[in-house]
Amino acid sequence: SAKHQGRNRHYLFHDQLKQNLIDRLSLLEDLREACNTRAFSLVYQPQWSLTQQCWIGAEVLIRWQHPKRGAVPPDQFIPLAEREGLIHPITEFVLERALKELTTAGIGRQQLATLSLNLSHTVLINEAVMNRLQGRVHSHRDGQPDIIMEITETAAMENLEATLSAMEYWRAQGMRFSIDDFGTGYSSLARLKQLPLAELKIDRSFIQDLPEDVNDAVITQAILAMAKTLSLDVVAEGVETPEQAQFLKDNGCSVLQGYWLARPVPIGELTHILAHTIDL
Ligand code: C2E
Ligand code: MG
Ligand code: MG
Ligand code: MG
Repeated sequence: SAKHQGRNRHYLFHDQLKQNLIDRLSLLEDLREACNTRAFSLVYQPQWSLTQQCWIGAEVLIRWQHPKRGAVPPDQFIPLAEREGLIHPITEFVLERALKELTTAGIGRQQLATLSLNLSHTVLINEAVMNRLQGRVHSHRDGQPDIIMEITETAAMENLEATLSAMEYWRAQGMRFSIDDFGTGYSSLARLKQLPLAELKIDRSFIQDLPEDVNDAVITQAILAMAKTLSLDVVAEGVETPEQAQFLKDNGCSVLQGYWLARPVPIGELTHILAHTIDL
């Protein structure tokens, strides 16, 4: 009967909610465990400089291979780590491990001028953690790539005052900052100008339909023109086709990152990629 079905639906719904909650709690438990045992690995996605015609840097990205769930994407566990305070040890781990791996692989500033690291806003405004990150950057300084800290535009703009003062403080200590996923956060030029930035990264949602999508083409051109007046380097992320690369080159973009150039790879493969040049 209909009544029966209704009740079944009710139980189904309830079970689904309960299951979601259990999943979340067990994911959190496993994430804590992964933090303790450092069960993460790193991949590196190199960036090609159009102005210098060489590999200029790489972005380090975290990977979590869960024993039962398989690979859990960072978009799923980083927000959880941010809410639960686990992002602090994770970020320290990523920086420390990346610097170690690069040293062991013999990749220094000669091979790669910069290493970009994703920095959550909660980390940026935590002085103790930032101090330790800064300490590691300094102790590895000789011959190592310069570290660039990426903050998403949305996070930066939601907390503009705190972002501004933290960035200014750490900029004075020699840190370099980049705005990630730019174009998704509706910043005004005036607000952006306040931040001590080395670079802007255009979000891949604007890149993916280039050059055919007229709106995206116009937005991308506007971002590139604006960055030029602010003397900011621009990295285009998510470049997947030679047509996108050519469009970005023709419009004055300085650096490209994306699958067409190179996928994110473990450190062992990074050396091989850096040995090849891009024809553009
Ligand atoms: P993001 O910083 O914007 O990183 C770029 C993402 O785009 C990466 O996804 C990368 O694998 C992917 N990607 C690169 N090229 C292409 C392309 O040509 N096409 C497509 N479709 N995708 C491309 P990933 O590794 O899944 O990371 C997702 C996000 O998770 C990152 O976005 C970043 O916000 C966050 N994340 C990753 N590692 C860390 C970390 O160590 N710390 C923090 N706080 N966040 C991290
Ligand atoms: Mg990033
Ligand atoms: Mg990004
Ligand atoms: Mg992103």
